[in-house]
Amino acid sequence: MSDLEDSYFRDRIPEKPNLTKRLQTHKKQKFRKEWMDHQDFKVWLAPVIGEPLKAKCKLCVIDLTAELTVLKKHQTSQKHKLSVVQPKI
Ligand SMILES: [Zn+2]
Repeated sequence: MSDLEDSYFRDRIPEKPNLTKRLQTHKKQKFRKEWMDHQDFKVWLAPVIGEPLKAKCKLCVIDLTAELTVLKKHQTSQKHKLSVVQPKI
């Protein structure tokens, strides 16, 4: 093996695939004020002061996670429907 060949092989940098680990974290939603304008939510939805990741049901007087799916699910719950008929406030 000549010196020329040696340097040729030494200088070759092996290509490393750029493996960036994807963090599979659940992206937390924050309370959106526009949800309060939603026809289905405006009667009962309220923000929780100091807790942007939470939402509040004024009728059931409970805190919920500020996620649209959670809000929709709560809206269809039996507990909530009863609260709409007989509000605690
Ligand atoms: Zn409710």
